[in-house]
Amino acid sequence: MDRNDAEAIVIGGGPAGATAAALLAEKGREVVLLEKCKFPRYHIGESLMPFCWHTLERLGLAGRMDEIGFTQKHSVQFVTEDGRGSRPFYFFQHYDHPSSTTWQVERDKFDQMLLDRAREVGAEVREESTATGLLSKGGRFVGVEVSASGGSYELRAPLTIDASGRDSLAQTKLKWRRRDPKLNKIAVWTYYRGAKRDEGLDAGATTVAYLPGKGWFWYIPLNDDVVSVGIVAEREYLYREGRDPAEIFEREIGNNAWIAEHLEPGQQFGRYWTTGEYSYRSEYCAADGLLLAGDAYAFLDPVFSSGVFLALKSGEMAADAADGALEAGDLGAASFDGYGRKLCEGIEAMRALVYAFYDKSFSFSQLVKEFPDVRGDLTDCLIGDLFRDFDPLFSAVSKFAELPAKLSYGRATPEALSS
Ligand SMILES: Cc1cc2nc3c(=O)[nH]c(=O)nc-3n(C[C@H](O)[C@H](O)[C@H](O)COP(=O)(O)OP(=O)(O)OC[C@H]3O[C@@H](n4cnc5c(N)ncnc54)[C@H](O)[C@@H]3O)c2cc1C
Repeated sequence: MDRNDAEAIVIGGGPAGATAAALLAEKGREVVLLEKCKFPRYHIGESLMPFCWHTLERLGLAGRMDEIGFTQKHSVQFVTEDGRGSRPFYFFQHYDHPSSTTWQVERDKFDQMLLDRAREVGAEVREESTATGLLSKGGRFVGVEVSASGGSYELRAPLTIDASGRDSLAQTKLKWRRRDPKLNKIAVWTYYRGAKRDEGLDAGATTVAYLPGKGWFWYIPLNDDVVSVGIVAEREYLYREGRDPAEIFEREIGNNAWIAEHLEPGQQFGRYWTTGEYSYRSEYCAADGLLLAGDAYAFLDPVFSSGVFLALKSGEMAADAADGALEAGDLGAASFDGYGRKLCEGIEAMRALVYAFYDKSFSFSQLVKEFPDVRGDLTDCLIGDLFRDFDPLFSAVSKFAELPAKLSYGRATPEALSS
């Protein structure tokens, strides 16, 4: 019998990996988490969704968010191409619960808090340790190869949870990445200091400001008078005059009067960042001895700030599924099919809304004007209450927008399911 170094190896110390590791360790499982960077480290993805609260609360961290002093986010607003703002959508008007106030986070601090939690509850966290390959034996995954400053070594466990983010170790090694057929965008972003903030409750709001050519700006107020500002749009639109990110950014500011006015008093600082490979899902969520979570499993266009929520939630679901499988002594892929099925359902609801957002003939205000009954469901989706039936909502949305067919992949490997 193989010697194991742990019951579970987690690759990646972002929100998905740190959550999975913390919750497994809390259940008394032996967990080793490998993180290639030394924390704190920079990361994009700063605007949280209200339902992040539930996983943070389970981790014992909801109170810590306000102690650290992250910017409170009470609302989101949409701004038209000609610069007119919608009425902010306040989460507390929809429901009365602590989660109706969420946060804008500096990810270096937020991710550090999560990783510290994993350590506190007993996960062994190894920073500056990169998983470079997956070990397999007899058709099942049995651990990982690790590269660290002291050299390379092998680490063995009956279950490996890949939470390596957009690097997606398993998707890359196993060629499991499937790009979303239509959501092929790129993003360019940077930071400003001293830019305009709205007042009072709106000071921490996320603003989504439309651009021509199916694009949008995000405007996310952070602490220390910093604002994160980014553009997401079609590649052909953004690169139509060249690829210099600073020039692209400056040019597009002129295409939305609200953004121009808000950035005018501010000063840009630091570098311009870009990313492509926009939306994808893995062919499979699991194989024997392997489970995928967070961006390592699926990534969706961030227009509704769903990424960190899905990372936390999938980390939580992965921990529960893994604990159940360890308890049953069956770490075969089929044990994780329910996990993949449920996660896909939630992602599909969000994905349908993202498709609607990019459809020229769709508008939220028109939808709720004609179908007032779906307002509650729509809001539930937007705050992250995703895991339930949304048929009435999407039947109404489909009157305005062409919705995507559900993707057929993302579940456990079929060999496992048929065995
Ligand atoms: C342009 C853009 C804007 C976004 N805006 C938002 C937003 O406003 N709100 C929101 O909620 N989401 C947003 N997101 C999405 C969000 O960033 C991600 O969904 C979220 O960070 C996913 O968390 P994760 O834990 O899965 O991955 P990550 O946070 O990426 O963590 C993965 C970790 O794994 C480590 N790692 C990678 N490979 C290895 C390896 N081989 N070995 C060891 N460690 C490894 C990495 O160093 C990293 O720390 C945005 C994304 C993009 C691209």
